[in-house]
Amino acid sequence: MIVIMKAEATEDQIEGVISRIREEGLNGHLSQGVERTIIGVVGEVSTKPQIREWMERMPGVEDVVPISKQYKLSSREFQEQATIVDVRGVTIGGNALVVMAGPCAVESEEQILSTAWAVKEAGANILRGGAYKPSTSPYSFRGLGEEGLKLLALAREETGLPIVTEVLTPEDVDTVAGYADILQIGARNMQNSVLLDEAGKSMKPVLLKRGISATIQEWLLAAEYILSKGNRQLILCERGIRTFETYTRNTMDIAAIPIIERDSHLPIIADPSHGTGKWYLVTSLALAAVAAGADGLIVETHPNPDAALKDGPQSLTFDNFQRLMDQVRSVATAVGRTLAVPPPR
Ligand code: PEP
Ligand code: MN
Repeated sequence: MIVIMKAEATEDQIEGVISRIREEGLNGHLSQGVERTIIGVVGEVSTKPQIREWMERMPGVEDVVPISKQYKLSSREFQEQATIVDVRGVTIGGNALVVMAGPCAVESEEQILSTAWAVKEAGANILRGGAYKPSTSPYSFRGLGEEGLKLLALAREETGLPIVTEVLTPEDVDTVAGYADILQIGARNMQNSVLLDEAGKSMKPVLLKRGISATIQEWLLAAEYILSKGNRQLILCERGIRTFETYTRNTMDIAAIPIIERDSHLPIIADPSHGTGKWYLVTSLALAAVAAGADGLIVETHPNPDAALKDGPQSLTFDNFQRLMDQVRSVATAVGRTLAVPPPR
């Protein structure tokens, strides 16, 4: 349910509505738009049908309307204007596209530093790299752990690129948040509600990947866990879903991009690396995602994909990443977008 406040409603009236909502054991989330102020009421609203009537009578209230979707705080109904996430001055969700690039996993100082410089040179804005790796097989590389986080921090110090890295467990949130600029929640963990709660409480920007077999509704409900903890710094990432097709590792759901843009105010980026699993398909899908309205990309890049400890077959060489960026720039221009400039050192 949302409470739409009158244009002339005072701060006190807004506060009054929020405290009344709390008295009922519910939560009120404020969305202060350019045109109007909205308070989203979340919690077990259905058990209190009478609240609609008394809220309509409160001073400063224009209207009270139910939100038709199951997801509330992530919906456009709650917040009309796009959310812009600010990561050390790199903004995600505005007109300029943001490109995150780097290896699947941090392997060594030499590997992460050379990649950070190469992707920055090519125009990337944020460095990716996993230190705690989820895996389908227990025999593949599990990551360097905190040592990997330290190497990412070193690469940030040298290049000025903010870093995004995955957090696997609720217990690791504090440690990872101590180094990372964006906490990545991976596809395998999209419905780990305890982890979502902790990421929400951390107040760090979060990159929430779509689950391997998750519907868009399930994905937005996962986003709701983070938003309802008060953390509004949230970015969604389409990374392909499981279908009957086996040629590609996953099937990139390009339609999810305009669907999210239509139904949610959250920024959405695309991951054509996990979305295809094959390096020679990555650029095509990156271009398709940008043409479809994505706010950015996350692309696996490695100094020597053949020797990569993880996801080599879908990783781009530095040269191929440069070519991808050149083509992304053309498509971005064609659809009226620009590319964000890499942050200074
Ligand atoms: C990754 O980004 O390396 C990763 C493991 O992604 P996903 O969770 O989408 O599989
Ligand atoms: Mn990977």
